[in-house]
Amino acid sequence: MPVFSLDPAQTAWCAELRALGSERLRPLAEKGEPGHVNRPLVAALGELGLIGRLFDAGALDLCLMREALAQTCTEAETALALQGLGAHPVAAFGTAGQRARWLPEVTAGRAVAAFALSEPDAGSDAAALALEAVPESDGWRLSGEKRWISNAPEADFATVFARTTPGAGARGVTAFLVPADRPGLTGSPLDMLSPHPIGSLLFDGVPVGPADVLGEVDRGFRVAMTTLNLFRPSVGAFAVGMAQAALDATLAHTARRAAFGGVLKDLQAVSHQVAEMATRTEAARLLVYAAAAAYDAGAADVPKRAAMAKLLATETAQYVVDAAVQLHGARALQRGHLLEHLYREVRAPRIYEGATEVQRTVIAKELYAR
Ligand SMILES: Cc1cc2nc3c(=O)[nH]c(=O)nc-3n(C[C@H](O)[C@H](O)[C@H](O)COP(=O)(O)OP(=O)(O)OC[C@H]3O[C@@H](n4cnc5c(N)ncnc54)[C@H](O)[C@@H]3O)c2cc1C
Repeated sequence: MPVFSLDPAQTAWCAELRALGSERLRPLAEKGEPGHVNRPLVAALGELGLIGRLFDAGALDLCLMREALAQTCTEAETALALQGLGAHPVAAFGTAGQRARWLPEVTAGRAVAAFALSEPDAGSDAAALALEAVPESDGWRLSGEKRWISNAPEADFATVFARTTPGAGARGVTAFLVPADRPGLTGSPLDMLSPHPIGSLLFDGVPVGPADVLGEVDRGFRVAMTTLNLFRPSVGAFAVGMAQAALDATLAHTARRAAFGGVLKDLQAVSHQVAEMATRTEAARLLVYAAAAAYDAGAADVPKRAAMAKLLATETAQYVVDAAVQLHGARALQRGHLLEHLYREVRAPRIYEGATEVQRTVIAKELYAR
């Protein structure tokens, strides 16, 4: 498959997704409460079959969904991605029982998922995680804190990564599927710049058993990394969608804003800035598609490509949204303006799922390994 262009069916599907985003999902997103899970929005994503598609689609389809929805409704885009991130470990590593219990609910948008890896003292260095799993006769008790967890504390279950073997680094981590109603599990929301709900989860001797393990005991880091490898290029796709939305708004605005006897686009400094924004967005998009296509083809260089795509796309989106704000002037900073929203949205992807600097480390390691 050529990685440099989409086929007509893919192009038509993206147009359909953008229309669904603006016509069907945006009105639901606008009724949501900031910082809380928007359940009607998640249910609509389920009804539209988009959540189901997450689990049988490849990386490229995931990227196309995220890019298209990001262009017209970032709230829907993020709600969709989080269902995927939280439930992919169940789909890929769950037992028949775990899959039967949770996947139909997740897919229908009735159960909300979370992916709980980060802790106050373990972010980029995820292998340093310390949430304790203390063995007892028929399982373990979990104690500790997960922080900066999207959809927490309202999610109905979380994939939780806990330390089953102390001192063993990445080799002593187990993934557990923890329903929200387990005794000893509480949480609180965090007030973040990022528009979607984020919180912490507190574990005070939460009981888990062998039936809650995802994959194998002490092999949970593989569950986390497999999930993140799939999602990494798609964070880039989210960024590309935001950059495209900012670019489209800028094209429209600079073509009609009267200034100095003409319109803004007549100023070469303005039109050249727009050209630069468009060029960088297209470059990022191609890198994202190439990384996703490489993932789907099972190519050997996926880690490098995925890291490059996430790095370039998230940094590009920051540049493009910032330039779009500049070319819109004051109106862009007014609460409720598309660019005010994108300016808040665009910041976090440079930090989560591997900060920019961590992606550079991955790329350099792959380069020197050859
Ligand atoms: C909006 C948002 C949503 C999130 N959702 C989730 C979620 O759902 N689940 C979850 O588990 N976590 C989530 N996180 C947490 C996220 O994964 C962490 O923030 C991320 O892993 C970075 O960890 P940290 O914030 O502790 O920063 P640190 O690890 O302390 O790093 C701080 C900075 O140090 C630099 N740095 C770190 N390591 C290196 C390195 N190796 N080389 C060079 N520089 C380096 C980078 O500039 C980095 O940004 C979310 C975060 C945000 C902001």
